[in-house]
Formats: sequence, C-alpha cells, structure tokens
Amino acid sequence: MRVTPCQAALAATITLNLLLLYCAWRGPASPAPPCRPPHGVPGVTVLLRDFEDFENDVAATARSFAALPVPVLVAAEAAPYPPVPLPPGVAFLPLRPIADRPPPHPELHVRTRHVALVPDGTRAVPGLLERMRDALEDGDARLVVAPVGSAPLRCLELRVEPREWTARYGAGAPGRCRAVEGPAVLLLRTRDLFALPFPLAHPAPAAVFIQAALRRWGLRVVPAAFPAAQRPPLSPHARWKAENLAETRRRQLMRDLGIKREVLADGRERWYGCGKETPRCFGTVHARTPQYLLAGRWTPPCCLRALRETARHVTAALEAAGVRYWLEGGSLLGAVRLGDIIPWDYDVDLGIYREDVKKCRWLAAVAARGEAVEDAEGFLWEKAAEGEFYRVHYSRSNRLHVDLWPFYPRGGVMTKETWLGHPQDVEFPERFLVPRVPVPFAGFTAMAPNDARAFLELKFGPGAVENPEYPNPAVKRLHQD
Ligand code: ZN
Repeated sequence: MRVTPCQAALAATITLNLLLLYCAWRGPASPAPPCRPPHGVPGVTVLLRDFEDFENDVAATARSFAALPVPVLVAAEAAPYPPVPLPPGVAFLPLRPIADRPPPHPELHVRTRHVALVPDGTRAVPGLLERMRDALEDGDARLVVAPVGSAPLRCLELRVEPREWTARYGAGAPGRCRAVEGPAVLLLRTRDLFALPFPLAHPAPAAVFIQAALRRWGLRVVPAAFPAAQRPPLSPHARWKAENLAETRRRQLMRDLGIKREVLADGRERWYGCGKETPRCFGTVHARTPQYLLAGRWTPPCCLRALRETARHVTAALEAAGVRYWLEGGSLLGAVRLGDIIPWDYDVDLGIYREDVKKCRWLAAVAARGEAVEDAEGFLWEKAAEGEFYRVHYSRSNRLHVDLWPFYPRGGVMTKETWLGHPQDVEFPERFLVPRVPVPFAGFTAMAPNDARAFLELKFGPGAVENPEYPNPAVKRLHQD
C-alpha cells in the first residue's frame, strides 16, 4: 500500500488530537502518567509514604493536608488493604510494577516544584509548608525538616562510608545536622528527590538522610512543629506487627543502600550483614580479588567481625592443644601494619607445624576421617579440597575461614606440600619461628614469627609493610580506588 504525504499528515493530525483528548479525559488526579511536564508548578505536593496497612491514619492525614489545599499523594507498594477511603482529589500511587499495567513512574505524578514527605498521623498547619519551602530556597540547604508533635527533634551528625559499608551517627551541632531523630516532615525539591536512586524507599527519613549525606546535602531544621493527631494507642498485637515490619523495612533499605552496619550516636551498633546462620556476603573469590574490591569496597564489617571471631577461636584451640602456629601472609602483614586484619582481606592465614596436627583433636579428626567436623561452637573444620592444608569455617553456612598451612622443617628451612603459586608463597628459614613472639591481632594476642618485618620482606619483597597493595595488583591496584 502506498501512503501519500497528504494521507500521512492527516493520520498524524488525527493521532495528535486523540492524544490530546486522552490527556484531557484522564484528568489531573488520575494515577496514570500525566501528560504535562512534571516538576514545573510552584507549590508543594504532600507524599504519604510511611504508614501501615492496619490501624493507620492515612485518610485523616490526607484530608487535613488536602484541605490546605495542596496536592496529596499516597504512595505504597500496593493499595492498602483493608482499603483506605481517600478524600476526593487524593490519589493513590502504586510503586510495585504490575504485569498487565503500565510501569509506575512516581516522578511523573508530582507536578509541583517541591515535595514534602509527611509521616502518618500528622496534621496540617496553614503556611508551614510554605515557610519550609522558603527556608529551602533562601539558604543553601537541599533538605528542610520540621518536627511533628511537641518533642523537639534531635540533631544528628551522619557520615556514610560506602567503602566500609557503614553509616555513623553522632551528636550534631545545631545548624549543622545531617539527620534528625524524631517524627518529622521532610521537604525538598521534587527534582532532588527523584534524582536519588531510591527516592521512595522507606522508612522515608532514613532513606533520604543517608542518600542526602552521601551527596553532602545541607539540612535545615525549622523549629515550628506540625501537630500530631491524637490516636488511640496500638494494640499489643498491632505494635508487635508494626515493630516487625519496621525491622524488615529497615533491613531491606540497608540492603538497597549497601549498608551493613549503623553506628548510633550512643555507640550502639545495628548489623545488617552476614551471621552464623547466613551465607557470607561475597561469593567464591577469583584471582585473589573478591567481588567487593571490584565494586570499590572493602571487606564488609560483618565479615571482618566473623573472621576475627574465627581467628580467635582457632588460635585458642591450637594454643590449648599445644600446636605451634604463627600468623602467615596477609594476616601477618595486617598484624604488623595495624594489629588487625587488613581491611580488604577475605581470609586469615596461619602456619602450623605439620607434626603438631595430631595434637589438636579437630585437626586429627579431620585428617583421620577426611570429612568436615563441626565443633561445639559451630565452627566447621575441614581438610581443604585444594591441597594439603586445613580450613576452619565460621559456620556450615557462612564460609568465612581461617586457612591452616602445615609446614615442616627440612635442613633448617620451613617447607610444605601445597604451593598455590602466589609470589609470597615461599620457603623460609626456621629461625623465624625460634622463638615465635606474641603480637596484637584482631582484638587478641596471636603468635607471629620473630623479626616479622624481615619475614614479610622475604615473602612479599622490600617495603611490603609500608606500601599497602591489594592482593592481586594485576587485577586491581589500591591507588585505583
Ligand atoms: Zn558479611
């Protein structure tokens, strides 16, 4: 079929008209993607994000702000159930994609220049959102917060260290907060919110504060407060449910943001990484370069903690049995440099005298039976499949481990059966072990070769202690980070 230019023009005109008609018909409060360009209109859109499906105050909170009037959107993975009777003009914004619907594009639904994340149970105050907006536009803060309820907000310092998978809170100096503690309304530019990789992750305050801290956004607190609704206390069951959900959400958020440890202002810690019951945080290591190093990160803190615990457990067992062991390779390097595991290392290496293996019941059992043995504390001892050495895992599921390399003296030189071909994997004079000396390592005292520096230079080359480098510089070098 041939189409003349005239027919083509006609078809284009009809299509355009149909499109315009569709836009007019959908109306502004519709949950379908709007046809107007977003983020242009002066004003503030209120987003309700943090609420429970049960015993929530969403309808009343939405009504209170819709009466100001400002646009109000209720955002959740799926429509709340039981259904919430939203007041007229308030739209529900589903965030989880549904196979037979268009993909959710929450950023297309907020048409105002500013957006406020409002906690459930907040009541509107005429003019306060505008004051927050003015505070944002008058200063260099990218985030303005106001308290909800009568308690003042606690100003917090917040430093996020992606390489260490850690978020650290501290007491903030007034006027220089990076986060606040307590219920709060958060106001920011719409384009800033939706420039974040996780704009509507929840709990919304933690999600925004952490992403904002990574971008060094300033935060300003306005003292005027939004009132909190008078609500009946939650039933014990509802409180239990809410606490469980909050914990699940926080874990999900930290997984998304790549945080495995939060250090709170009072020094307490919250851990989100691996434990005895979970697999370790990284998969099989190829070319001595774990996946996290390629991602520009160091060993997750949970893994370092588990490695320290395993090393302490193994050395205590060896000492109790009278097995002569010493810190080897990267572990000795870490001990000499900083008294700890090197912050990007993924295992701990110990040398042992081969003739002492039979003294340790776990090693003797593994050597005799050829299969792994779990000890009373849940550590798993096994003979390595890769050669003549032993391996003690943090647990059956979490394969963080300490390697034990059996050496034996031959004419004054310590040698062994299995060589993995690493440059530092070489024989050495036995005099380094006569005597062995105690050194601080990973929170306890471990035994090391005497003259550790000479030992390390023999293995790694001159300057090994002073010049840190990743395990396999051919794959990735430290200065590339
Ligand atoms: Zn871990």
